[in-house]
Amino acid sequence: MATIYNAIYRSNNREEIIDIFAINPKNYSEKYRNKLFCSEPNCFAKLCYVVMPGNSKRSYLRKWRNSPHNENCFHYTEEVKNGVRKHSSRTKTVMASEEQISRSLKRALELELMSEEEREKRREEDRRKRENGIRRNSGNNSSEQLSMELVTNPEELAAASDETKGSRLLTRNIDALKNGDVGKTRTVIGSFLELEHTKERMIVRVVRNSSFLDIKFEEAFFVAAPEYSDIFHLIERFAKENKQTIILATGEVRRSEDKNEFSVSVFDKAGLSVHGKRLVDLAREYSLGHFNF
Ligand SMILES: [Zn+2]
Repeated sequence: MATIYNAIYRSNNREEIIDIFAINPKNYSEKYRNKLFCSEPNCFAKLCYVVMPGNSKRSYLRKWRNSPHNENCFHYTEEVKNGVRKHSSRTKTVMASEEQISRSLKRALELELMSEEEREKRREEDRRKRENGIRRNSGNNSSEQLSMELVTNPEELAAASDETKGSRLLTRNIDALKNGDVGKTRTVIGSFLELEHTKERMIVRVVRNSSFLDIKFEEAFFVAAPEYSDIFHLIERFAKENKQTIILATGEVRRSEDKNEFSVSVFDKAGLSVHGKRLVDLAREYSLGHFNF
């Protein structure tokens, strides 16, 4: 299981990120007990501090028995992989549909544009939904559940594809990507920085909180959508004309060794959103404007 390095301490409507090394048996029992939660987005797993006698450095945080991580939480995936909750052989790899990708991009942008207050409300709703779901499923044997991993890279598709309802693509701000995301399909969010457009490759470079990331458009992308190869420059135009250009992309996370950064490879033409718009929609809007309709 991946180590949990920090937790959200919630007390009197206040939230604070607490590093695991700041916790000790004394302040845990006096202050933090019952008030520590998973710090991943949209996850409300309650955490407890497990003391390793004689070696405080090996003490660790884990979820309470009856407080699972959100199924979209990074730590939940790890549990699935290690077969703690479900057997790993029951994880099935399926191709994300265009609709699933579009939904993921839309939801990610919504969250991005929300005020902190709205975001908190959304978190509360998600928590309630999740709790209802747990109650509904409480009679089932959890080992019977089949876990799904959505991918966009055609080469990753080992098994025959089926419809997957209920599975959702995980969203990460580009400054929140972790090594555990490498090789996985994620929806990432950043602000447009520049376009690198050569004969060989198309890269949209994004930034967030001084983290940088290249979104690379693979051959498969242009095979499926040849009309896109001539309209990428519209992103630059949009960025020039607007104060903020949020770029969202769904693709496979990779590690770019030469730059010591993560990168994302996009295969599906639905996997790019320029501030909520598909590139083709942007092209249509600009051409309509051009003809002064
Ligand atoms: Zn969690």
